[in-house]
Amino acid sequence: MGTTLARRGQLPRSAGHIPRCAQGDISAWMESGEHLTFGRANAEPRAGCVEVVCGSMFSGKTEELLRRLKRAKLARQQVQLFKPKVDNRYDEVKVVSHEGAKADALAVGGVDELVSLILPDTAVLGIDEAQFFEPSIVTTIDQLANQGLRVIAAGLDQDYLGQPFGPIPALMAIAEFVTKLHAVCTLCGAQASRSQRVVATEGQLFVGGAAAYEARCRRCYVAGVVEGHL
Ligand SMILES: [Zn+2]
Repeated sequence: MGTTLARRGQLPRSAGHIPRCAQGDISAWMESGEHLTFGRANAEPRAGCVEVVCGSMFSGKTEELLRRLKRAKLARQQVQLFKPKVDNRYDEVKVVSHEGAKADALAVGGVDELVSLILPDTAVLGIDEAQFFEPSIVTTIDQLANQGLRVIAAGLDQDYLGQPFGPIPALMAIAEFVTKLHAVCTLCGAQASRSQRVVATEGQLFVGGAAAYEARCRRCYVAGVVEGHL
């Protein structure tokens, strides 16, 4: 009896062995790098990873990012959330999804500022609207993951012209896990993968909020801007 108790917590250390309690939900591993028990004190060193949550507008990217961060917090892991300063819709400080979920976020002017604000104990790093960061975000995220951080980047994979958006394609390439979410096409109800701009404005950086865009499927999407739609 005493021997059995003494052996608890001393699972065999054969090569490649992962304690059963640390394996987590395998289905969660399929789409994210969630390793909720690895961040605990005295646990084995964390394995860093890169996760990308992408899709069109209204596909629930921010909602999914916030869900993952919330679970990490429940596991008592240090979480930080960043967003670019260019995205000032709805709220200056908080990341707000279209559905209204909120989380405190640090708005940063670029990659250097983001890196300078990472706390020593941070285990999970969330980045919303990652498409607006400069290209160096890709190597930076890669290095942070190499240092043991779990980095979750959410962003638009295509701009309003249907083109790959900023650093997201490269982030998808280096990521261990990519989750591509879909919205619902406002015209036909099919799965939507594109963001139709319905206000006549040029430029990728235009952030007009929900009223300026519609989710469209491939068939219903019209490249560019649908002028006079509203
Ligand atoms: Zn459609």
